[in-house]
Amino acid sequence: MKKKIVSATLAVVMSMALLMGCGGKAETAAPAEEAATEETAEAPAEETAEAETEAAEELAADVQAIVDRGVLRVGVKNAVVGFGFEDPATGEYSGMEIDLANKIAESLGVDVEFTAVTAATRTELLDSGDIDCVLATFTITEERKKSWDFSTPYFTDHVGVLVEDASGITDLSGLVDKSVGVSSGSTSAKSLVEAMIAAGLITGEGYDAETFDPATWTEGVSFKQYEDYPSISTALSAGEVDAFCVDKSILAIYHTDGRSYISDEFAPQDYGVATTKGSGFSTYVEGLITGWLEDGTIDGLIGTYGLN
Ligand code: GLU
Repeated sequence: MKKKIVSATLAVVMSMALLMGCGGKAETAAPAEEAATEETAEAPAEETAEAETEAAEELAADVQAIVDRGVLRVGVKNAVVGFGFEDPATGEYSGMEIDLANKIAESLGVDVEFTAVTAATRTELLDSGDIDCVLATFTITEERKKSWDFSTPYFTDHVGVLVEDASGITDLSGLVDKSVGVSSGSTSAKSLVEAMIAAGLITGEGYDAETFDPATWTEGVSFKQYEDYPSISTALSAGEVDAFCVDKSILAIYHTDGRSYISDEFAPQDYGVATTKGSGFSTYVEGLITGWLEDGTIDGLIGTYGLN
């Protein structure tokens, strides 16, 4: 577990600056920091204390609860290199989603605690209150937005398909009538079916975006669902499935010798920070993410992890 703590005083003043500057869209983190420094430097001691009390009052109750707890609990991936990866030897997490989580915690002046999540578990853990937010290659979709808040996207990936070279499959057309391994709770199966319909490879008869279920879809391609990605990789080696479909960032670690991506990639996947719908924390996180998009912090992280 990686922990970062900044002065609680500075964090509270920064939070105030963020909230006060925010009317739907918050000020960037940088001006908030400058404002905090100026205020702390110039104001007499009592006034500073008063400002801090007011600042604390400005925080939404759920954000204040995180500050009082002293720990921000974040759901992250543990096997997606460059996003959320846990070093098996040291237990240290790294990746741009880890850095973003650390920065959110830093802005609150609290420690951070990571919980490894999967596509299947991340929303349950958020709904149960076990975690405060999800930074886990979580694609923003209209359907998901009905249940959770998502920040402005901090990264866009595409869906890809990994196959064993021996299969001879090289593009989408090779997947007709094949069985594809996907993760439960992911966008992958739906994205693949839509791409195959768009390419004219399957008719799409009976396809309904609202009710699509990978478990029952058999028109021109079928799916086997797994709880985690290592299980799909094992199934691919064992010939239990003909292909492994998910975002390319996630596939990267399973792209080993003797395996290739098909030539097509499709379905842009915008990753956002997911939080409880309607919560004060959603507004707080949105302010930070938009600030980090504007001031180049996020571009910097994309560069650091070689994701561009
Ligand atoms: N990003 C995709 C999704 O949110 C793939 C699943 C995953 O993130 O594990 O459904």
